[in-house]
Amino acid sequence: MDLPCHEVYALRYATVARKPTENFISGDPHDWANQMDYFIWAIHAEGEWIIVDTGFAAPAAEQRKRNLLRCPTQALRMLGVDAQAVRDVIITHLHYDHAGNLDKFPAAQFHIQQAEVAFATGPCMCEPFLRHAYDVEDVVHLVRHVYAGRVVFHRGDVHLRPGISLHRIGGHTEGLQAVRIHTARGWVVLASDATHYFDNYKKRSPFPIVYHVGEMLQGYDRLNELADSEGHIIPGHDPAVLSGYPRHAGNAEIVGLHLNPTRRS
Ligand SMILES: [Zn+2]
Ligand SMILES: [Zn+2]
Repeated sequence: MDLPCHEVYALRYATVARKPTENFISGDPHDWANQMDYFIWAIHAEGEWIIVDTGFAAPAAEQRKRNLLRCPTQALRMLGVDAQAVRDVIITHLHYDHAGNLDKFPAAQFHIQQAEVAFATGPCMCEPFLRHAYDVEDVVHLVRHVYAGRVVFHRGDVHLRPGISLHRIGGHTEGLQAVRIHTARGWVVLASDATHYFDNYKKRSPFPIVYHVGEMLQGYDRLNELADSEGHIIPGHDPAVLSGYPRHAGNAEIVGLHLNPTRRS
């Protein structure tokens, strides 16, 4: 059976300045990584929009001193997507920059790995180091949605629909999932925080927010297996994503990942 080819977009909604040495456990300093971008992603699958992650809102931006450029739902509007009408949202993991704003998707069911919910509500959260990137209010909202029957739990590798699958990759958190999408240029993999920057993967040097270093390193191999080439791996926070893919309708904040990379400087 021929698989459908989907479109997939990266939408930037926030940014922050970083010191390059903050981006690698064993970092020699890299001049290029002086910024971190925050994205959500949107898949256009046979007329339907599936959203990947929901970003953070103003209070979290203020608390953590991030530069919120626009509400992620506003970014979706720029793509012609009404968050209120979205029916499927994939949450790669529950960190504050990926799982806020759940209340802005009132018609959605949320797809998440069972291991991520267990991790974010279990004994590891007694450790400040491990809970720092979570916001308890986001986790509580997700749990409320469990009780409202709006959470779909997944385990490991899951076929979501033709040309879209989910893959648990440990390391960054216990239950992060990457999203694999069949596009006209082949299999694209939204790595989310399985690799923050392309160079975390390329140099096999993990980002310092890490639960299990060994699984993080194995995760790089998994990304490699899932994507058609290194150029099909989309890191979670790398400014090179926005500068490296064709803009959607001339919009500098939205790029098409189903299209071949450009070399725009
Ligand atoms: Zn994360
Ligand atoms: Zn993140």
